[in-house]
Amino acid sequence: MNIHEYQAKELLGRYGASVPKGIVAFSPAEARAAAEKLGGSLWVVKSQIHAGGRGAGRFKNDPGGNGGVRVVKSIDEVAANAEKMLSSVLVTKQTGETGREVRRLYIEEGYRIQRELYIGMLIDRATSRITIMASTEGGMEIEEIAHRSPEKILKISIDPATGAQTFHARQVAYGLGLTGKQIGAATRFILSMYRAFTELDAQIVEINPLVLTDDGDILALDAKMSFDDNALFRHADIEALRDESEEDPAELEAARHSLNYVKLDGNIGCMVNGAGLAMATMDIIKLYGGEPANFLDVGGGATRERVAAAFKLILADSKVEGVLVNIFGGIMRCDVIADGVVAAAREVNLNVPLVVRLEGTNVELGKQILRDSGLPIMSADNLADAAQKVTTAVAQATEGVN
Ligand code: GDP
Ligand code: MN
Repeated sequence: MNIHEYQAKELLGRYGASVPKGIVAFSPAEARAAAEKLGGSLWVVKSQIHAGGRGAGRFKNDPGGNGGVRVVKSIDEVAANAEKMLSSVLVTKQTGETGREVRRLYIEEGYRIQRELYIGMLIDRATSRITIMASTEGGMEIEEIAHRSPEKILKISIDPATGAQTFHARQVAYGLGLTGKQIGAATRFILSMYRAFTELDAQIVEINPLVLTDDGDILALDAKMSFDDNALFRHADIEALRDESEEDPAELEAARHSLNYVKLDGNIGCMVNGAGLAMATMDIIKLYGGEPANFLDVGGGATRERVAAAFKLILADSKVEGVLVNIFGGIMRCDVIADGVVAAAREVNLNVPLVVRLEGTNVELGKQILRDSGLPIMSADNLADAAQKVTTAVAQATEGVN
């Protein structure tokens, strides 16, 4: 799960990492009030969307204009820019062409920046450890630094038995070329960041840029945090930060029913139990010349309702021209699947070919339910047969239309 920059900064601040003062705003009037409250003579108006590259991004209705992060020198300018940015669609390298509507702004006190650094923490799957990554090339995307000058990325792997220690943090500080009191400040920052990462079950914490100001302070000018979905049950306060308007509606609906669903670009919807079988099903669809429309694992203990929800989710995708249900009934019973599929197919007026392959517990009962339903369901004996049937049926159906 991702959160907004202002939320990440609030969390990091709680752990003692230094962040600029700021106030979130949902309207130009709130933006003005925020700037007045912050005081000073320099403000930054920042679009809050769950995507990076905002500074270099452009608004759809103003392609020649300024980006999604604006440094301004008066309260009137804060309000005027807020007016333009709110409700406008921001397109960045990370949003894709459709962009994202800006619904919130973060109004921050502005700083005069001396140097921009990069610091990130993530879980390295290869070592099963948290890795700290740092670079003097702040402001640039880490992928770009890795591509252009990989030698400028410092990586430190943290042993979970000890956690991050002062010497790790100092190693980063020296690696970034910091001197004098900056070393102590950076060390405190890194240790706070690490504590936030581990205690909140984060997946990624990225500060880009971490800046040195004219006054010699170090602070996080940007912050990105994402969390391990499987640990959210123990962080109700983090779960409460979820912004559903930033999430894919279909994936959100899937999460509500505890379904593992990932939307893809193809035309054959898949409903499978078990992630491995779901992957294999997608592969075999491709082998027979089709393209999967989604990955969907209904899980082991699915109920009739959950199966029906999954089926409706697949059919809500307008690209879907055929559906393949592939269930191996181990814990999952084939009759439960059949009940769910029949109920959902009736409810949505199924009008695309549906191929069902059932095997395992209560398979005969499941097949009987499908036959008795009177619905035009094609039954398959094995996975290859199922894939062949669905791809052929889709090809015939689309030929008929053309
Ligand atoms: P991103 O483009 O989505 O990564 O958004 P950032 O929060 O990183 O902002 C983009 C850039 O705006 C930063 O790299 C800075 O160069 C600039 N910026 C942000 N805040 C300030 C500020 O307080 N003062 C100045 N001078 N520049 C800022
Ligand atoms: Mn940034």
